[in-house]
Amino acid sequence: MGQKRRDENFTTIVKVAIDRDKPVRIGVNWGSLDQNLLTQLMDENAQREEPLDAKEVMLNAMVESAMRSALLAEEVGLPHDRIVLSAKMSQVQDLIAVYRKLAPLSDYPLHLGLTEAGMGAKGIVASTAGLAVLLQEGIGDTIRVSLTPAPDGDRAEEVRVAQQVLQALEFRSFLPQVSACPGCGRTTSTFFQEMADEIQSYLRNQMSEWKVRYPGVESMRVAVMGCVVNGPGESKHADIGISLPGSAEEPKAPVYVDGKLAVTLKGSLIVEEFIEILNSYVDRRYGTEEAAGGPGPFMTALEPGSQ
Ligand code: SF4
Repeated sequence: MGQKRRDENFTTIVKVAIDRDKPVRIGVNWGSLDQNLLTQLMDENAQREEPLDAKEVMLNAMVESAMRSALLAEEVGLPHDRIVLSAKMSQVQDLIAVYRKLAPLSDYPLHLGLTEAGMGAKGIVASTAGLAVLLQEGIGDTIRVSLTPAPDGDRAEEVRVAQQVLQALEFRSFLPQVSACPGCGRTTSTFFQEMADEIQSYLRNQMSEWKVRYPGVESMRVAVMGCVVNGPGESKHADIGISLPGSAEEPKAPVYVDGKLAVTLKGSLIVEEFIEILNSYVDRRYGTEEAAGGPGPFMTALEPGSQ
């Protein structure tokens, strides 16, 4: 497609956005980069005393293309504050490099995302690596994680990963976090890992209701640890934590609430009882009525050594 035709199509879309009072994300994708512009920059580069390598020229072309398109959109009449820029790359280092070049050139909000990131762990890790570096540098205003779903996979996984990136960096909270130890020779079963998974799923399922009833609950930290030797330390740092008995330990699971031993659970219903304690804690700490009225019945019932 020629430059003139490209500009006409672009202008048509921008006019529609102006008519409908909508913002526009102007995206440059390395796979469909304007070849005329790239050729022009390559020719100019060849004239330099010390030419840049071809990759650098390609990144410069991405940036130049994005900026030119934004200026064209403004010339057509799109207000400056209705423009978001993106420059999608498929390699982590390219993504970081292109946004580092783009960020200082304007105050347009930047949309970050690694394109063609791939499937499963590879896609999640690559996306996280690229986004984390840029976000930590203060670059980026919106994000997208693009994962190739497994057959019958869940598209919402992309959203969960993007939320988790923001939560891990402590920029935003979406869901209470469960810390679980990796397990070691002190543990004889995967019970605590299954319990951590069960609790994380429980928290996720509660969130649609909890986020309305319990403002701030998304920042809660829950610990599920695999032994009572080292587990309580981590539990004390969480808002609420449980340490399950490791191998050769008494079958008791101390529960810490706000850094203090609240109760020690025993028996086969540890998970259910811990979830009950969790519910009471959430209600007491984040429920606005109870919060105003001081400690609820839970703390009275679970004095240390009461069970
Ligand atoms: S908390 Fe206990 S079980 Fe978990 S990794 Fe540490 S020592 Fe092992």
